[in-house]
Amino acid sequence: MEKIVNLCKRRGFIFPSAEIYGGFRSTYDYGPLGALMLRNVKEAWWLSMVQLRDDVVGLDAAILSSPRIWEASGHLKNFTDPLVECRKCHERSRADKIDGKCPACGSEDLTEAKRFNLMFKTHAGPVEDEGAVAYLRPETAQGMFVNFAAVLNTSRKKPPFGIAQMGKSFRNEITPQNFVFRTREFEQMEMEFFVPPEESPKWYEYWCNERFQWYVDLGIAKDRLRLRPHSAEELSHYSSGTSDVEFLFPWGWDELEGIANRTDYDLLAHTAVSGEPLEFFDQATSVRYVPHVIEPAAGATRTMMAFLIDAYEEDEVAGERRVVLRLDPRLAPYKVAVLPLSKHVDLVPVAREVLAKLQPLFMCELDVTQSIGRRYRRQDEIGTPWCVTVDFETLSDRAVTVRDRDTTEQVRVGIDGLVAELAGRYRG
Ligand code: ATP
Repeated sequence: MEKIVNLCKRRGFIFPSAEIYGGFRSTYDYGPLGALMLRNVKEAWWLSMVQLRDDVVGLDAAILSSPRIWEASGHLKNFTDPLVECRKCHERSRADKIDGKCPACGSEDLTEAKRFNLMFKTHAGPVEDEGAVAYLRPETAQGMFVNFAAVLNTSRKKPPFGIAQMGKSFRNEITPQNFVFRTREFEQMEMEFFVPPEESPKWYEYWCNERFQWYVDLGIAKDRLRLRPHSAEELSHYSSGTSDVEFLFPWGWDELEGIANRTDYDLLAHTAVSGEPLEFFDQATSVRYVPHVIEPAAGATRTMMAFLIDAYEEDEVAGERRVVLRLDPRLAPYKVAVLPLSKHVDLVPVAREVLAKLQPLFMCELDVTQSIGRRYRRQDEIGTPWCVTVDFETLSDRAVTVRDRDTTEQVRVGIDGLVAELAGRYRG
């Protein structure tokens, strides 16, 4: 874990936020490589959940939201964690995550658990009174429920169909922990799949399998992944069945994503508070019903961290130790590094020409300084799948060397065929 945190900081994946001011309450900023990788994680999700399907549409709802949404959803009342304080050292903890002892000093003298609401409250507009209260959304899901009728009326979809959204969510976590595993500001990728009530068990199974497979397809080792059904006591108040996709983190198994059968809980709750009927009228059969909902809810930032942990390896190349991130090329921040063998005035312009050919298709990096061996190591360490080296022979044969990150194998490829060669490798 420490190695990952160091690598993230040293190479520009993830920095502690506001570090020049000593950091700020477990918040993090995504640096040049982290911003690229996080986009890639989200794009891989969007591709599989929206683009490659004809039964899911996208949404991008407001983060700043009406208290009525959270009143209806039950968050104002129920979205709480049990907070205890140690009477000895005043450390605050989540009662359900500790073993009756203060995790800081080991004292058992703790206060009674208080219910602490996790939503960030603010005011919309210049007057800070009750009428102006707004909340930062603690999940993206409610955006899909409150827009259900609007999407139904505008998209020509009918159940079974889904609405997908990814973006920031905010929870005032009592104890943010484990780097970006649990933070107060994070990104989610959620989809609400609306189905005829009698079909919900079938779709629940379907989405559990689909979502598990998504992580496998993007390269996470199968023995580090599991699907764990919740026990009856664990189930949320709205759920008739939930399974978590869990990853074997350095501290043990923990959640990447929850797939829940939310029944008709949310649509009925919003109908009751808003007075707007959120239902589906099937013109073919003249049947009116409130769809049930299957929700796969994943965390983008947490998932990115799991991909990093899973990809991290140390091995040896020609007797030299190297760190290599064996990331799936779709997730790697840079797909190709273009490396002129030296800074020689004849080589750099050709390297730039090669770069310009590749850039419309791939996120690339041009790196000209240090020995070629050192530059290969740098690229291995950030997971770049292919390095393209321009050398003096290139000036006469118009060919470059393509080096593979995982095998370190090098082959000579003509510049004219380079885009096709790399596109072929990228598609796998
Ligand atoms: P927990 O019980 O761990 O607090 P949860 O089960 O309430 O979390 P969900 O509401 O199901 O989490 O959220 C869906 C997904 O969003 C989680 O599986 C996780 O990937 C992500 N997520 C939730 N809270 C956080 C957080 N504080 N930081 C980072 N990711 C989060």
